[in-house]
Parts: sequence; C-alpha cells; structure tokens
Amino acid sequence: MLNLKKSIARKGIVGLDIGSSAVKAVELEGRAGQASLTGLGYEQLPPDTVVDGQIMELNAVSQAVAEVFNANQIRTTRVAASVSGSAVIVKNIVVPKMSEEELDESIDWHAEEYIPFDINDVCLDYQVVGAGADSLFVLMAACKRDYVANRRQAIQLAGKEPIIIDVDAFALQNCYEYNYLPGPDQTVALLNIGAANMTIQIVRGTRSMFTRDASFGGNQYTAALQRDLGLTYEQAESVKRGGPAPDGVDEKQIEAIFAHVTDALALEVQKTFDFYRATTDESERVVEKIYLAGGGSKLRGLAESLAERLHIPVEPLDPFRRVRVDARRFDPDYMREFFPEMVVAVGLALRGVEG
Ligand code: ATP
Ligand code: MG
Repeated sequence: MLNLKKSIARKGIVGLDIGSSAVKAVELEGRAGQASLTGLGYEQLPPDTVVDGQIMELNAVSQAVAEVFNANQIRTTRVAASVSGSAVIVKNIVVPKMSEEELDESIDWHAEEYIPFDINDVCLDYQVVGAGADSLFVLMAACKRDYVANRRQAIQLAGKEPIIIDVDAFALQNCYEYNYLPGPDQTVALLNIGAANMTIQIVRGTRSMFTRDASFGGNQYTAALQRDLGLTYEQAESVKRGGPAPDGVDEKQIEAIFAHVTDALALEVQKTFDFYRATTDESERVVEKIYLAGGGSKLRGLAESLAERLHIPVEPLDPFRRVRVDARRFDPDYMREFFPEMVVAVGLALRGVEG
C-alpha cells in the first residue's frame, strides 16, 4: 500500500524518515498554513542497516525508531513514512479518457509498461493530475511490495502504527510547497542528497514533472577520501564535515577530492535535466532554481559548486520557513545545524496537518 492522495486531513501524525544513515522524526501540530513544531528527533543508524532503501537489520531499525520517539517524548504513535531508491518508480503517464472506476480497474495494466518489476510484486498508487481532450494525465508511483512491507514491519516492531507510506520525492515536494508557496509557472528542482541516495524532483508550480532517484550521496565523498588518502571511515567522515586534516594531508588535496566527486554529482543532475527537457514538449520548462536538502548537501561549498557547474541559482531548502518553532523548546543552533536532514520528515508530517 502506497498512499499518495493528499485530500484527507489526518490529525496527529509523526513524519518518520528512515534513511540509510539515520532515522528522523518530526511532529507538527495545527491547521493548514499554520503548522507548529511539537516534536523533533534524530537517531543515527549503524552502518549497513539500510541498503538502497531496503532494511537489512529490522531490529536495529526498529530500536532506532523506538528511541527517536522515547528520547524526544513524542507520544503520537501514528506514523507517515516513505520509501526511496531504485525500488521506487515515479512516472507521469497518459491514458485514454475514462471513468474513475475504469481507471482504477485498468491502472495495473497501464502501469505495467513503465515498471521494470513484476506488477504483482509492487504496491501502486496514482493520482489524476490533469486532462486533455481525450486523455488523462496520471501521476503514478510504484514500489516493490517487500520494501513497503519491510518498512511497515520495522515501524510496527517499534510499537508504532504506519498510517501512510509515501515516497521521499513527494514528501520533499510537499515540504517545498508548504514552505515556499510556489507560483503556477515556477519550475524548480528539489535535490535531496542523503548518504547513499539522491532524489531529484522537478516541480512546476505544484505539479510533479519528473522524479529520479540516483545511487549517489554523501557516502561518495567519504569513500573517495578513504581511497585517495588512505583514511579510515571515521577519519574521512570527520574531514568531510570540516574536521582538521590528518597529518601529512593538506587542504588542497581534500579540496581536489571534493571537486572530483562534485563533478560526478553535477553530471548526474545535468543528465536528469537533459532527460527531463528531452521528454517534455513545452519549451519553457526550464529549471530556474535548485533547492538543496539532505545531510549530504551540507558539504562546505557544495551549493556554490553546483551553481557554478549547472549555471543556475542553488539554495538550501528551509523546511521550517513557514513552520512556527518555539526557540525555548528547540535550540536554534541545533535547528540550524540539522534542518537539511529534516526536510523529508517535515514533508511527511505535513500529511497530518494539511486540509
Ligand atoms: P539516504 O537518504 O541516502 O538513505 P539519509 O537520509 O540517512 O540517507 P541524510 O541524513 O540526509 O541521509 O544525510 C547523511 C549524509 O550527510 C551522510 O553522508 C553524512 O556524512 C552527510 N553529512 C552530514 N553532515 C555533514 C556535513 N556537515 N558536511 C558534509 N556532509 C555531511
Ligand atoms: Mg534520506
């Protein structure tokens, strides 16, 4: 079961982002347009517990989920979580005009052509997003069934109730829409750079135009530092996060390694933009701006490097731009440090406050 439809307001839901490096939880309260933060948590995961979106160590993940609730006194048990990575397929498809029932009955058949897995092994959901003279535009999302089941199980083992399973890309978009109120013609790319995965979500106004997950993330920088400088994982992580260079290594070498990996990252984004342009017929659909999210986006100088390579403005996406945050309860320095990691969890939590 994937649940993409936004129409139902669900009170009291915790947005839970189970990433490959950490679990993040966000709880919001309030009505549409007036959300305030009531709970926030971050819990590191041991390495290799989640690989390409698949949970390998169910117990480790469910422990981290339980801990993130306990440590931060989050009492709501209803959860909106999400899936990402190569098991997820998101596509805009065109089908002949038909009734709701007809579409519901035939969607598997229409979707089959776009899904590289057996249709019986996937969870599928869709939304009609527009209509032509004799066609319907349908946004469809599918995910391997065992990936979804796996996530639900980890959440249930922690004593929580998975109410919604969404897709990272849509949570990202949800967070952007709520906080930035985009105009109908504004085309932007949302880039969530995690540890192992990068989600590229191209949005025009509030419409999802193109979605792609690439196996690329902060891990690539760490691995390159380890390989080229002979560092341990811990040393490389520390250097990446701005720690002092180990003996015998100078800053120039580090910068060169960063630049090399950023070239590859920019190329992935460029390839996605090119593909998007080639498959969209309206000529004005040029991406105007990139919003960055995810822990991987905190690499120093990354926004500037991407702007230079892709020739468009790049700025961080602030998930709390229009969310009330009480500075007495949530330390502003901590919030500033961790907001890139919280984007998906905020987008998921918003499923509980939007009307
Ligand atoms: P994924 O989405 O790929 O499953 P995730 O959701 O767990 O992973 P995030 O929490 O968004 O990923 O980000 C984790 C990544 O961010 C790690 O690669 C980590 O090294 C990197 N990171 C965190 N802080 C910094 C920093 N200050 N500078 C550079 N990289 C950082
Ligand atoms: Mg992530």
